Amino acid sequence: MTPTDPPAGLPAGLVDGLVVGSGPAALAMAAELAEQGLAVAVLAAADPRAPWPNTYGIWGEEVDALGLGHLLEHRWSHTCSYFGSGAADPADPANAPTLHGRDYGLFDKARLQQFWLERCTAAGVQWRQGLAVSWRAVDCAGAACSAVTTAAGEQLVARLVVDASGHEPVFVQRPDEGPVAGQAAYGVVGRFSGPPVEPGQFVLMDYRCDHLSAAERLEPPTFLYAMDLGEGRFFVEETSLALAPPVPYATLKQRLERRLAHRSVRVEQVEHEEFCLFPMNLPLPDLHQPVLGFGGAASMVHPASGYLVGALLRRAPAVAAAVAAALRAEPAADSLQLAQAGWRALWPLELRRKHALYQFGLEKLMRFSEPQLRAHFATFFALPEAQWTGFLANTVSVPELVAAMLRLFATAPWSVKAGLMGMQGRELALGLRLLRPVG
Ligand SMILES: Cc1cc2nc3c(=O)[nH]c(=O)nc-3n(C[C@H](O)[C@H](O)[C@H](O)COP(=O)(O)OP(=O)(O)OC[C@H]3O[C@@H](n4cnc5c(N)ncnc54)[C@H](O)[C@@H]3O)c2cc1C
Repeated sequence: MTPTDPPAGLPAGLVDGLVVGSGPAALAMAAELAEQGLAVAVLAAADPRAPWPNTYGIWGEEVDALGLGHLLEHRWSHTCSYFGSGAADPADPANAPTLHGRDYGLFDKARLQQFWLERCTAAGVQWRQGLAVSWRAVDCAGAACSAVTTAAGEQLVARLVVDASGHEPVFVQRPDEGPVAGQAAYGVVGRFSGPPVEPGQFVLMDYRCDHLSAAERLEPPTFLYAMDLGEGRFFVEETSLALAPPVPYATLKQRLERRLAHRSVRVEQVEHEEFCLFPMNLPLPDLHQPVLGFGGAASMVHPASGYLVGALLRRAPAVAAAVAAALRAEPAADSLQLAQAGWRALWPLELRRKHALYQFGLEKLMRFSEPQLRAHFATFFALPEAQWTGFLANTVSVPELVAAMLRLFATAPWSVKAGLMGMQGRELALGLRLLRPVG
């Protein structure tokens, strides 16, 4: 036997973990698994150093708690939303901005990617390029390992495959629970004839709608997400929180143009157009499958906000530690055992309960009219800061989350209470999952 031959009965090139993908979720998980001392390979369709297409935002407090504030490219302290209609009377107190009093940041996506790539490289991750197309169980000296075949016909073998291939995963299976709602947005980074938002301002949600006709205001509501990027550049994005089927880009673009025109603002130079669409209310994956998922593939997008990166950074260490512990306890563990350890750490009971609550809440919001939505968000952001920030970051416990929701109900105007009370469609079934979560 030469030093490179595998031990008897083990396939050549066997690694502990094969991570499929090279987006934020894949790199986060590969880095953590390798730092746990596992032999890790990444199989990516594209060069892992290729720039990511999306822009990632996060609240300042969340990124600071992770000690990663240095990975932000922009940070705003002047953060607000508008939940008034913006109609006729600008002196109406309902039209005043809701000041969030919290910093918000945009990641420097190249630096975030570099942060994970450096950790992967330092921990010895192997890089393989190829499109994963199929998975099958193979024998590893009596244990069932995983073999992934690429479009080019190459076969890679691992004790555990982590599917981090995004919202339409190549391997992870999810139940079909009906139409999935998408957050859709159309945005422009560029220069404008005048500032579309106040200098130095970050606007999370501008629901003012006085640029729309009465008939248009009966259509699915959209809001402006916007920020001053400095040096005369701004990012403005017309966004639909969630809808199935999603609001078309053409509608969002037209609404953005109307909103800007209403403020006598013209786009003078387009640096980048963003077409954003991702699922908000994916069901939880089957937690008993022999492939582990992570990121969009594992339904980790926050169903109320659409955010993911904070969750990746917070949850990857525990998942990797659980997989590593299972492998240390049983060095010949098969894929199912390792995936189970990972799934249990990724979606423990508490998080599954919260996922049910968030999904229930989103289902309600998707039925709200534009005035109800504005009233809902005005009430939500008037909650004590710890409640609304913890709700959005998904860092509060189940009882704390329920307390925030009850307080919201108690302090909301009657129009919102009425919308929250009646149960329609699958709302009741989703609400009951708080008591009996799936998985
Ligand atoms: C425009 C936009 C803006 C967003 N903004 C934010 C935000 O501000 N904050 C936030 O937290 N979230 C945001 N999101 C949501 C979410 O964070 C992203 O969708 C995120 O990119 C998902 O990360 P991921 O790593 O799971 O998947 P992806 O980023 O989709 O990465 C999937 C990777 O898998 C690879 N791959 C796919 N199939 C295969 C295969 N068969 N074999 C090998 N490789 C494969 C792809 O090439 C890619 O590298 C945004 C999403 C969009 C679309």
